[in-house]
Amino acid sequence: MPQIINGKEISAQIKEELKDKVKAMKEDGISVCLAVIQVGDDPASSVYVGNKKKACAYIGITSLSYELPEETTQEELLALIGELNKRKDVNGILVQLPVPAHIDKDAVIRAIAPEKDVDGFHPQSVGALCIGQEGFVSCTPAGIIQLLKRSGIEIAGKECVIIGRSNIVGKPMALLLLRENGTVTVTHSGTKDLKEVTRRADILVAAVGKPKMITREYVKEGAVVIDVGIHRNENNKLCGDVDYDDVAPVCSAITPVPGGVGPMTIAMLMNNCVESAALRQ
Ligand code: NDP
Repeated sequence: MPQIINGKEISAQIKEELKDKVKAMKEDGISVCLAVIQVGDDPASSVYVGNKKKACAYIGITSLSYELPEETTQEELLALIGELNKRKDVNGILVQLPVPAHIDKDAVIRAIAPEKDVDGFHPQSVGALCIGQEGFVSCTPAGIIQLLKRSGIEIAGKECVIIGRSNIVGKPMALLLLRENGTVTVTHSGTKDLKEVTRRADILVAAVGKPKMITREYVKEGAVVIDVGIHRNENNKLCGDVDYDDVAPVCSAITPVPGGVGPMTIAMLMNNCVESAALRQ
């Protein structure tokens, strides 16, 4: 049986560590504060925002909540971000994506001060990651590195293959694995013979956005399989990009869905907020 990489447990561990850190910072007179902005009332976004606020409360981070109506203009949103950028008591600013279609998402991301960009989406943060400088890193791929490290899985020297090249998962994942001295290949919808490439992987990261697409034909025996996907199947149950039952018997370690990568994203967001406050100090 493969090692089940337990994201629920590892994320809880990280949250405990952060809770202690925040307590110690408070004793030194440093507080941590995250501003969360949601435009419109998309139900999935409301759930994500609610979970982020809950995690803040648990760790001892103050969260400021801005629930703006769907018809909020881009100018209004940018003005709010501008105010929050200036506030000394605010360490992190998060705009829950997606934003309504009349708002330019990239303009919103660019408007957040890089030192408060706890999502790690600002071009300056991405550029810093690319050239090996300090900066915030996108939370999902940062969480995957923690999952691997805390599960005792070596990255250096390994063949790492990522399926997907999105700005929030695939590309930063590639840069982080490279930083850890993995040998990295990024695949996408234009990749010829995907299975041939993925079967080379010692560490396979599936961020393709297609439910259960990755079956055992894509996986080398003994590989570590990280499943980033989140979907609801026909029975309304959560599943990933990996066909877990098919792949688990042939791999050495695997993340389940739910309880794998998912919980790590919020843990790393909290980590970025705490780091932001510590750095400011
Ligand atoms: P995107 O849809 O932005 O990217 C999907 C990527 O997969 C693209 O690069 C696309 O290629 C590639 N792709 C699509 N079809 C194929 C194919 N048949 N063969 C090879 N490559 C293919 O998704 P995200 O990166 O945002 O998310 C991926 C998954 O992870 C989703 O299920 C999402 O819900 C989940 N997710 C989970 C998070 C978590 O916290 N656990 C956080 C973020 C995302 P191309 O670029 O050529 O179009």
